[in-house]
Amino acid sequence: MKILFLDQSGKLGGAELSLLDVASAFTPDCLVGIFQDGAFAQALASRQIPYQVLTQATIQVNKDSGWADSIGSAGQILPLIATITRLGRKYDLIYTNTSKALILGALASRLCGKPLVHHLRDIVSPEHFSAANRTLLITAANWCAAHVIANSKATAAAFVEAGGNAKKVSVVYNGFQPQVYQTISETDLRTDLELGSRFVVGHFSRLAPWKGQHILIEALAHCSESVVALLVGDALFGEQDYVNTLHCQVEQLGLSHRVKFLGFRSDIAKLMQVCDLVVHTSTAPEPFGRVIVEAMLCQRPVIAATGGGTVELITHGETGWLCPPGQPQKLSELICHSYHQPEQTQAIAQAGYHHALAQFTLEKTNQMLHQRLAQVFA
Ligand code: UDP
Repeated sequence: MKILFLDQSGKLGGAELSLLDVASAFTPDCLVGIFQDGAFAQALASRQIPYQVLTQATIQVNKDSGWADSIGSAGQILPLIATITRLGRKYDLIYTNTSKALILGALASRLCGKPLVHHLRDIVSPEHFSAANRTLLITAANWCAAHVIANSKATAAAFVEAGGNAKKVSVVYNGFQPQVYQTISETDLRTDLELGSRFVVGHFSRLAPWKGQHILIEALAHCSESVVALLVGDALFGEQDYVNTLHCQVEQLGLSHRVKFLGFRSDIAKLMQVCDLVVHTSTAPEPFGRVIVEAMLCQRPVIAATGGGTVELITHGETGWLCPPGQPQKLSELICHSYHQPEQTQAIAQAGYHHALAQFTLEKTNQMLHQRLAQVFA
């Protein structure tokens, strides 16, 4: 099956990291069409996945945009739809991986007469999308998609609640290659990062207000001096004000010696392994939460904010801990609990590891994706 994948981003977010694994399974008979050059293009090239940057223009529509912005950007969008339509004729299927890609891919699929599958990796709710964009997205999926693959039950439910056709949607969880997370660092990262024997809490996510790094920083102020935090990730979509706010917060709380900002890193598994605990702090429902499964595969205990897909990944007190979102006091209590109960924490990390191995392998995900795509042509 020849597939034209479409993704709007030039950056390496969770959706793009997931697509790298999906597209690998269809290489060389696929093309990943992206709307921006950048780190994602480099990652595709390094995995020898065929790709093409489809436009040099920047599309001025984001998740908060209204109708006027969408109409105003027609000058950039129309040539791109024409390009996708032309390319689409050479493939059996158009497979969209992000919301902007869905809108453009939907129109192109109609024009070139090829089926469209959308991989839904967003919670279609007011917290994440403007009303205009929710309408566009749902209309495009209902009218043009042969099937919608949701990355969690939470994304599927939000899609249906927003008006999406329930008959078109099915859930396929993200998959991971366990061996990637069992890597051993050649250098002593703990020493390199001057962490000594302190209790290291890691946070792995792009820096964005709804990812809630500020909640962890505030929680840290309630923990003992021997608890420190690593913040791994950078602002990917222009959230520089938030980054500045985080640095000010650290300074104001007198935590400069206990918080390290590492920026965007590609050695996630190695960094997770220097952590005693991994936390996730999103204040809005998380569509899936790749970092949670990655930490489990690194055999690290996880605390995740309740909401969206996280409750499908963790059973509280068994395979990790769930914390109400936006509650630093509660988070600090859970961090302290983990710090003071090493045996229970170790047991939870092991249970999480075995759960992730059983439920979230790439092999299982790819099998399910192949089944879903075969059904489109049945
Ligand atoms: N990640 C990374 N480098 C960083 C920070 C994060 O490679 O510096 C990865 C992380 O390991 C995970 C992904 O980015 O695989 C984030 O996916 P998630 O589902 O947690 O959140 P999203 O970015 O999709 O909202």
